[in-house]
Amino acid sequence: MMDVPSSDSPPVAPVVAMVGAGQLARMTHQAAIALGQNLRVLANASDEPAAQVTPNVVIGSHTNLEDLRRVAAGANALTFDHEHVPTELLEKLVAEGVHVVPPPHALVHAQDKLLMRQRLQALDVAVPRYTSIESRDDLAALDAFAGRADAPLVVKAVRGGYDGRGVRMARDLADARDIARDFLADGVAVLVEERVKLRRELSALVARSPFGQGAAWPVVETVQRDGICVQVIAPAPALPEDTAAVAQRLALRLAAELCVVGVLAVELFETVDGVLVVNELAMRPHNSGHWTMDGSRTSQFEQHLRAVLDYPLGDTDAIVPVTVMANVLGATQPPAMTLDERLHHLFARMPDARVHLYGKAERSGRKVGHINFLGADLADVTKLRGRAELAAHWLSHGQWMDGWDPHGKADHDAPEASPARSGEERRT
Ligand code: ADP
Repeated sequence: MMDVPSSDSPPVAPVVAMVGAGQLARMTHQAAIALGQNLRVLANASDEPAAQVTPNVVIGSHTNLEDLRRVAAGANALTFDHEHVPTELLEKLVAEGVHVVPPPHALVHAQDKLLMRQRLQALDVAVPRYTSIESRDDLAALDAFAGRADAPLVVKAVRGGYDGRGVRMARDLADARDIARDFLADGVAVLVEERVKLRRELSALVARSPFGQGAAWPVVETVQRDGICVQVIAPAPALPEDTAAVAQRLALRLAAELCVVGVLAVELFETVDGVLVVNELAMRPHNSGHWTMDGSRTSQFEQHLRAVLDYPLGDTDAIVPVTVMANVLGATQPPAMTLDERLHHLFARMPDARVHLYGKAERSGRKVGHINFLGADLADVTKLRGRAELAAHWLSHGQWMDGWDPHGKADHDAPEASPARSGEERRT
């Protein structure tokens, strides 16, 4: 573990402190290395993904002011790999002179879904119709809302949810009431909102620097399963150019209005009528931007560092017509074959897979890595998505969904079977 540098010996390179040491911090560290910067992370434990790879680790909790002070000491900027730091602690740090980016008054819109919805409405931005339930007394308002909403209901924890945890689809009004009661009993206020009729989900990812520069990546489609993102397609296929431009402008406008510094993800619903509705905001590198590590001129991790240090922002163009990102999720029963061995086999079959693993133990549904595939032709998106799914499933489960057998004679995957198979034969 490092000693926190004293303020009389400033480091030559900038130090960015990041609260949290998950995969986002780990990949931000990769970008910091290239830029000659130091990333210092606040980790709960030394085996967390970023703590494994950087020497600049402060062990402590994001809810402890002393620990936050330790990680922030002497840093040029304090930023985040998650949004769970209580606002009042961040405000104390700001009062003590810590450069917190994004600032707490911006971040709160990524922490509190009710505040976010209220602010977006005030800015005239479309959001799903909702009602807030902060105590059991408010439950009475639910019936009236259900009448107005005229749609199935979704019940959400106002704070603390992620990856679909804290989001419950209600069967009917009585179920919505029960779910809301359960949350309230745990001291969690809820939002009840209409279930939007979705064509698909999109994400508009942008970055903003304190200088006021903004940069937008191409709008992507995100594909969820059980509330967890499983694939991202960049750019979103067949998204009309003007709709994409509207989404990018909206995200840049929100970044400016909310005073965001760093990366901002605006998670959007595209309704069956083609209307864009904002679901969520995240003010940090985001899963919908993992494709940028291989598919864009500037990765979201580098851009976040540039933004929080107020450098000029990088070029956000895609370098290929299409990139597909697939998350590797822990299987219910992790396979007997080690992840490293599965990686070997994956590379033997698919030499072009761009793999990013996070050093996490495999647990059911947990994001343990992602894979990017770059495509030379937008028309190949279906094939690329199929390959990404095969690859991610293989890394998760140790099984090829198409029954491919590296040692068999059947030629299931002709275009890549020949080089891959000879690679396998060399190994065995
Ligand atoms: P989290 O904070 O856990 O990411 P989200 O609010 O993003 O929660 O919801 C997770 C997923 O649940 C969304 O990506 C979407 O698939 C679904 N969902 C959430 N809210 C709605 C809604 N109002 N209508 C339809 N689907 C929804």
